Amino acid sequence: MFHKWTRCGEYKIEQVKTDRGLRSYIRPVPDSGFIKYDFMDVHRKQGSRRMGENTIVPSLVNLDTSNEKAILNFVNQFGLLGLLPYNYLEPMLLELGTERKLIFIPERRGKNIADVSEVEREYLFALNGRNYTDLIHSVSEPLEEFKKAVLRFQDLNNHVSAVGLNRGIAVNDNGEWILEWSFDSLLSAAYFFLDECLLSNFWIGTCPRCSKYFLSSVKTQNYCSRRCDDAERKAKSRQALKERVIIRIT
Ligand SMILES: [Zn+2]
Repeated sequence: MFHKWTRCGEYKIEQVKTDRGLRSYIRPVPDSGFIKYDFMDVHRKQGSRRMGENTIVPSLVNLDTSNEKAILNFVNQFGLLGLLPYNYLEPMLLELGTERKLIFIPERRGKNIADVSEVEREYLFALNGRNYTDLIHSVSEPLEEFKKAVLRFQDLNNHVSAVGLNRGIAVNDNGEWILEWSFDSLLSAAYFFLDECLLSNFWIGTCPRCSKYFLSSVKTQNYCSRRCDDAERKAKSRQALKERVIIRIT
């Protein structure tokens, strides 16, 4: 059982004036709504030996970061990477003095406490939300930071083990006690799923037809998808037909 993740109905890439100059951001389209989904829905189906090309790990590994349209397609399908919760823990509400409330956000691996207004400027979130979920819903991600995180994920030779995951006991809809995995972000979930594939009998291959990476536990799989499989078979039979015709003509 996995914890849920939320994405907005739609995202756009927008130039935003910041104190560091104009920066491109991936931003939620206002009033496009929120969609809650289970992390498991974006991973392979239980027991499946082939990894669907539209699941999170192949999508992230193959994402062309130089193509903004491809980035938008990705976030519209999966949501943002969750760089804010990936890099920082939950904000804490502290009351100082009489009425002033300050929120500090500790960095995950650092000792530093970040000033919330710095983090707010980086991720453009609305501090006036009622709770952490409201805050997360209003978050945008700097396009350059998004690309860097994707490129780091794609650097399979320097694979980073999953971080930002928790195991806990939860009660499911049937009232049974179950083990629940939760992730702080989509990025952490993707690292976890990649780890899981590499620890099980999945392997990473490159499609000779479209050069995309694919994951499979089928030893004889050559191509990334049925589409490339079919295309290659058709090309081969066309070639064979051509050769037959040539032989007949000569
Ligand atoms: Zn292919």
